Amino acid sequence: MNKIINFHAVNNSEWFENVIVYLKQKYDVVGIKQLYDHYYNGKTLRNACLITVDDGHLSSAEVIYPILKKHNVPAVFFVSPKIACRDGITNFWFQEISGYDMDRLWQIGREFLNLKTPVHTEWIKEMNIDDIWKMIAYYQKFYHVSPKAPQNMTTEQIRQIDREGLVAIGAHTLTHPILANETGLRAEEEICSSITRLEAMLGHPVLTFAYPNGIPDVNFGVREKCILKGTSVKLAFSTQPRNFRTSDDVFAIPRYGLSTGSMNFVRLKLFLGKYYSPLRKLIRG
Ligand SMILES: [Zn+2]
Repeated sequence: MNKIINFHAVNNSEWFENVIVYLKQKYDVVGIKQLYDHYYNGKTLRNACLITVDDGHLSSAEVIYPILKKHNVPAVFFVSPKIACRDGITNFWFQEISGYDMDRLWQIGREFLNLKTPVHTEWIKEMNIDDIWKMIAYYQKFYHVSPKAPQNMTTEQIRQIDREGLVAIGAHTLTHPILANETGLRAEEEICSSITRLEAMLGHPVLTFAYPNGIPDVNFGVREKCILKGTSVKLAFSTQPRNFRTSDDVFAIPRYGLSTGSMNFVRLKLFLGKYYSPLRKLIRG
């Protein structure tokens, strides 16, 4: 069973090391080159596992990378060059609103941006990125909240990791919009500029991309895949939780998310694979 496991920020190094040791025991841990050869050159992979990490949070350099190095485990980190350069914004919108009172944020959106989206837990993921930032600015002004300190890797940290060669660097847009909520022009700018700016930063082509939030046909679709086909990217990743196989669309490769939980939970989640989410829903009613 071939799997791609996706992480985000990891603050518990012991947990992450236990997971990595387990994955190494259980799977043939592969790098991006082998995945590329699998899709483009017919290389057979059996019981393979690729590790990816989205967003480029500081813990990618401070917690995750040292453990990958210690165990000689390759991976792909998906980052935003705009965030790394501290160009206008230093944090992604979801990092900035973490800890905010979501009811107050919703009220601001309703009052100033005429939000008509029905209230449900994921309502903000139906908004475009400019409106999200307007809402954040109003919230900070009205509730006297300061912008947070930068939470993500700098250009130099990303360059250093890239130079050492164990971890490949891929693009993850400029500002992490849900691409399907944006205009075609904006989606193109977010995708293409994140790739070209990252290439300029690293000094070589970028072959991989991960869609923000990554649910196929909800967060991205045919339009985004077409845009990517005009770039240097050869492999693009979703968050559809299932095993990968040769017949996959190379512009929507599935990945399993892993963020917390005991080792028993991690083992169970990997064992259940694509059945984990439907079973969880069923159990929770
Ligand atoms: Zn992300």
